[in-house]
Amino acid sequence: MTEYEVVIGLETHIQLNTQTKIFCSCKADSWEQPPNTNICPVCTGLPGVLPVPNEAAVEKAVILATAMHAEPQSLSFFDRKNYFYPDLPKGYQITQYDRPIAVGGYLDLPMPDGRTRRVTINKLHLEEDAGKTKNEKGKRYIDFNRCGVPLVEMVTNPDIRSADEAAQYLTRLRQLLRWLGISEADMEKGHLRCDANVSIRPKGSAELNTKTEIKNVNSIDAVRSAILVETERQIREVESGGEIKPWTLDWDDNRKSLHKMRSKETEADYRYFREPDLLPVHLDDDWKERILADFPELPLARRQRFMDTYALPEYDAEVLTSERSLSEYFEAAAQAYGGDAKQVSNWLMNDVMRMLNDANIPASQLRLRPEHLAEILKLVDAKAINNAIGKKLLKKVEKSGKSPAEIVEAEGLAQVSDDSAIREICQKIIDSNPAEVESCRSGKESLIGWFVGQVMREMRGKADPQMARQILSELLKQ
Ligand SMILES: [Zn+2]
Repeated sequence: MTEYEVVIGLETHIQLNTQTKIFCSCKADSWEQPPNTNICPVCTGLPGVLPVPNEAAVEKAVILATAMHAEPQSLSFFDRKNYFYPDLPKGYQITQYDRPIAVGGYLDLPMPDGRTRRVTINKLHLEEDAGKTKNEKGKRYIDFNRCGVPLVEMVTNPDIRSADEAAQYLTRLRQLLRWLGISEADMEKGHLRCDANVSIRPKGSAELNTKTEIKNVNSIDAVRSAILVETERQIREVESGGEIKPWTLDWDDNRKSLHKMRSKETEADYRYFREPDLLPVHLDDDWKERILADFPELPLARRQRFMDTYALPEYDAEVLTSERSLSEYFEAAAQAYGGDAKQVSNWLMNDVMRMLNDANIPASQLRLRPEHLAEILKLVDAKAINNAIGKKLLKKVEKSGKSPAEIVEAEGLAQVSDDSAIREICQKIIDSNPAEVESCRSGKESLIGWFVGQVMREMRGKADPQMARQILSELLKQ
């Protein structure tokens, strides 16, 4: 039996989060606006209008190109891609063809087994989006709101070797786009769209066979499922002596199935030529320097640095760099604390991240600042408060915005480490629970935990639990 491998290339369309559209001053994001309310003569292609390029769209494309290790080009051109479709009012799309804004580049994917899969990029180009067509009850409705929204199209080479790797690529890309603050990268809202080119070959072969193109997948899970379904179909087809045809396939996420849309157009059908109404984009060194002045450390580099500098396990570094503001929060807290950074990581990944999820906010919006978290950890280390009180303090600081020390003082939460005070309570608990004392003394030593719990409750959680345990075991042995 032949063993097959799948060969995948991904074509992504990324909606840049500029204020205005790419060639006019309409709002760029009209999500949730009534149809055809966010349009003007330019983006609906009325006669006599002229497009004006949006500087911010060029700048965000350059930031993305740099993050993808691509080479931004000092000279690039806009071209017309001609095709007829109802939601394309001009009859052509302004895009870039042979001289795009950037070429080359790659994205590294750290795989679970420790390998790294490098996915190389063919080119990145800037273009305008088309409108939307909706069929309903035998009628066709057209909404031009999305016409002229700035997109970067980014095409990978066929470097991806499994559905999981494709999902990884999209996950990392989405993380990167949000990290850079250049796109909301929400697949459900179409801010990040993906078409997958899929072909198969016998394992070990280097040839590229006929591929099919999967369209209309609007979540990362859907991309994974669609690729798996298509891979199996192609293997069945080839095994039964059939031939793979270069179809374009439409993914139906409800039925988890693919349907043939049409045979693929060839590039010549688009009759590309230079856009005569736009000048070339000159990206000189000064401009590039200005664009990249605040270029951040990228997620994978920061992940590695967290492992090296703070001795964090890979898992912690991965979680803490999943989002930029969380990674900045961790680093600020770790520096303010100065102790074992793993402690900071534990508190962040458990309690603080739960608070973030519950409130559905990024770390930067917490009232519990990194310095507060560091202060709480120091209070625990100094045995000024115990662990349980420390965790309660997180919520109290978040709610009140006051500093941990202030709250400890005002609410009398300081840990009681006074031997005689704890001993008194321990004795009281022992005296009032003779049956438990009896079974503990006759060998059921696990009961000690129950006694500690009683003492903590009696002292409203403020006792030093280790000290309570020590005194209790002493008294129970007598
Ligand atoms: Zn417009």
